[in-house]
Amino acid sequence: MENLKKLIRTIPDYPKPGIMFRDITTLLGDSQGLKAAITRLAEPYRTEPVDAVAGIEARGFILGGAVADRLGCGFVPIRKKGKLPWKTIGQEYTLEYGVDQIEVHADAITQGQRILIIDDLIATGGTAEAAAKLIRRTGGDIVGAAFVIDLPELGGTKLLELQGIKVRSLMSFEGH
Ligand code: AMP
Repeated sequence: MENLKKLIRTIPDYPKPGIMFRDITTLLGDSQGLKAAITRLAEPYRTEPVDAVAGIEARGFILGGAVADRLGCGFVPIRKKGKLPWKTIGQEYTLEYGVDQIEVHADAITQGQRILIIDDLIATGGTAEAAAKLIRRTGGDIVGAAFVIDLPELGGTKLLELQGIKVRSLMSFEGH
């Protein structure tokens, strides 16, 4: 874990003052680091049936696609509003200022399918919570949610756990 953590680049005050941006591109660019991260994200789910990984745009696509391949299951993209070409269902969530919306294809998940949520980082949990709501509205069961990075002080992991979702992260950082 410590070795993987060293591959994360921290950029202070990006995209705005006070935010410590945890940049995973340095991890993605390292062949051994990428392999280890995907292995560790997928490992706990090898013994559980997973029908599809739902990856959250955009970094969740990179990690989620690779995890889906490891688990031998499908991949469902959860995208920002207006990006998916077919019929969608959407879910709004609150940002620090205003609201945003994510969408999934209405027919991407069928009743009772077991879905694993993947993203790079969980902070307040607003994005992952919206993804979980979308999945549940389509009839999917959430196997769990897995992230490379947790920022526990922002409460996202607790928020998901309160909704009965098992959360796993490869590492955590203090602060925002
Ligand atoms: P949240 O909805 O607050 O849990 O934010 C999670 C989403 O915002 C993820 O898709 C992250 O990629 C991004 N994000 C939030 N905070 C950071 C941060 N400090 N560094 C990098 N990405 C972040």
